[in-house]
Amino acid sequence: MARLIFLGAPGAGKGTQAKALAAFSHIPHISTGDILRTAVASQTPLGLKAQSYMDQGNLVPDPLVIDLIRDRLSQSDAHNGWILDGFPRNVVQAVFLDELLVDISHAYDYAINLDVPDDVLVQRLLGRGRQDDTEEVIRRRLQVYHDQTAPLINFYQSQDKFLSINGNIPPEAVTEELRGLVQKAVVDS
Ligand code: ADP
Repeated sequence: MARLIFLGAPGAGKGTQAKALAAFSHIPHISTGDILRTAVASQTPLGLKAQSYMDQGNLVPDPLVIDLIRDRLSQSDAHNGWILDGFPRNVVQAVFLDELLVDISHAYDYAINLDVPDDVLVQRLLGRGRQDDTEEVIRRRLQVYHDQTAPLINFYQSQDKFLSINGNIPPEAVTEELRGLVQKAVVDS
């Protein structure tokens, strides 16, 4: 069983890595970005509220993502572990998550940062071609990352369960490091 929080800038590779690691560990990959994109595509009430923020590269308002995560973590498949990808994205969300995990008695094992330099991020995002990957939106998302999400590195460092991995190496090498970490989390728990 492992409970992991993935941090990292847009384009750091956390989606790809989180997905692969979740499949390997037989635990759900919980990506707020994926959940929100599905909601937008199917025009649910959540999707309708979230769309304009996402289109501009801004964070969707905290109450919407907080409700989404509270619901998702209460589902039965999340009782034996999970990988959170894209949540928390700011300090308000991180404080909420800490409180929620105490309430449901589910401590996380590690917060893992995938570290990639900005110039590499921009190149990767421009090459990805997702609908919200225009240059202007990419720059905005990176700014939001530096202003609001990067401070979570200090937040989690101070809890002593923080690890940073170099994300600027081949994807398979990142995967291998992450598998080692999960195995350690399983042994320790
Ligand atoms: P990226 O590929 O940039 O890491 P994600 O797929 O994680 O992006 O998220 C895409 C968009 O969804 C974000 O730009 C943001 O608008 C919204 N989003 C995802 N997670 C959150 C969150 N935890 N809080 C607020 N908005 C979020």
